[in-house]
Amino acid sequence: MGRLLIVLLLAVAVLLWWKHRQRGKRSEEAAPHRPRESTGPEAMMRCAECGVHLPSSQVLPGRGGVFCCHEHRERFEARQ
Ligand SMILES: [Zn+2]
Repeated sequence: MGRLLIVLLLAVAVLLWWKHRQRGKRSEEAAPHRPRESTGPEAMMRCAECGVHLPSSQVLPGRGGVFCCHEHRERFEARQ
């Protein structure tokens, strides 16, 4: 019984240590990248359907402009 408790405690300790390690690793990885700041100002593009502004990497190109989502692209192109 006592041995089981020790094993259980060890398992919990390892789990906590591992979680802590994962968290530390993640923040270390995230720090040098800083994608939003290091890539500089991204060109903002406007959805031709609803007019919402999106970073150029997130827009969907379509006929007649760029769009924020498939729905808007389809709606816009249906009217063409
Ligand atoms: Zn839209």
